[in-house]
Amino acid sequence: TTPPTPPPPVLDASSSDLDLLRPINHGLTEAKRLISQALECRISTIDHDTCDVGDEDAFFVADLGEVYRQHLRWKLNLGRVKPHYAVKCNPDPQVLRLLAELGTGFDCASKAEMEQVLQMGIDPARIIYAQPCKTKSHLRYAAQNGVRQLTFDNADELYKTKQLLPDAELYLRILTDDSASLCPLSLKFGASLDNTRDLLELAHALGLNVVGVAFHIGSGASDPKAFLKAVQDARVVFDQAADLGFAMHTLDVGGGFCSDASFEDMAAVLSSALDCYFPPHIRIIGEPGRFYVSSAFTLACHVIARRTVNDPTLGTSSYMLYLNDGVYGNFSSIIFDHQNPVPRILRAGDRFLYAAHSSGYETPNMVDYSIWGPTCDGIDCIAQACSFPEVIQTGDWMYFEDMGAYTKCSATRFNGFTDKHSVVYVSSDPSVRALLQLE
Ligand code: PLP
Repeated sequence: TTPPTPPPPVLDASSSDLDLLRPINHGLTEAKRLISQALECRISTIDHDTCDVGDEDAFFVADLGEVYRQHLRWKLNLGRVKPHYAVKCNPDPQVLRLLAELGTGFDCASKAEMEQVLQMGIDPARIIYAQPCKTKSHLRYAAQNGVRQLTFDNADELYKTKQLLPDAELYLRILTDDSASLCPLSLKFGASLDNTRDLLELAHALGLNVVGVAFHIGSGASDPKAFLKAVQDARVVFDQAADLGFAMHTLDVGGGFCSDASFEDMAAVLSSALDCYFPPHIRIIGEPGRFYVSSAFTLACHVIARRTVNDPTLGTSSYMLYLNDGVYGNFSSIIFDHQNPVPRILRAGDRFLYAAHSSGYETPNMVDYSIWGPTCDGIDCIAQACSFPEVIQTGDWMYFEDMGAYTKCSATRFNGFTDKHSVVYVSSDPSVRALLQLE
């Protein structure tokens, strides 16, 4: 007889903190084991001497249990903030499916992102079109498909909205101090507090409905005080709006959250600022991207070529390794997202080294490497200097953890290499495995 299917994860407000923490702690070791198994299983099917073009391409292993754990972490620390996942960060269909099941909303930046989410049967009311400067045809698509929540930060956008989506629910995006973030956004978006009253007056004169304020403290933020200041500024704009007769009901605190231990500190500052400045009847939403997916994706690549570099003065050798993925591919995060992915050996010769990566590197015989992508461009460098206790050969495999955010979504086809890398899905959480019917 088939065992009964476990019920889908229950993530209602009544879950106690302890219930939420249990899968977080349990999933971590299970995740390592599953990822390792998935990597080995896939690589063992590849014969570099006989395979078809593309069979040996770089690939991801995605642990959807990790996405679920991040969701629990979010609920535990930011229970008041309803997440609207930023699709741009990683529009992976299984990630979107899981988040749809978990009840999150979605932050979309274009017609294609809205379409992807709507095609999953998601209610358009769960989407915020969070792009303050929209292409008209994309805005028409939003209007025709029932997406009504939009952000704006300038007068022209209000005229555009009046013409194409006059019953929109508008969020005024304000400027933030994003100087402590990896990817500042306020250079490009956000109205300063000097302009917000004028914009609200114009919206009022046009008969538009401004329902809230939005901000983003920059992607990969590191200063919790930026949240405090942004919440205080949002309060000022709520009060300006009330003076003009708008009954704002929602604050959108954007994204910017990292998945490392800084999250809990950021969340604590944000939560207490929200409780201080916004009474409980104000709805709070957020647009997290990297927080949900960054740690869930591991990328495996193989060494397509190796060059030996001799230093006659020192009498030493080092190696330049060329991988089948680079900054024009999934390592686009090095250029666009200012990341430094950490290379690790996955398979050297016949040995599978995943589980051993964190130990045994302190041997005296370290070998120096630089690591490069496959294109003809000199900028295509993944790591300028690293060392391993192994002599890595052509055909060996390497892997990189934390490759879920702003990686494959910004990969290109430069030099004719693929921008479509396959994903092996696993789940270190049994309820997610059942929910998504993963093997
Ligand atoms: N919302 C908006 C409007 C953004 O521009 C971005 C990222 O650029 C995000 C959300 C997601 O940010 P993060 O991945 O830092 O959470």
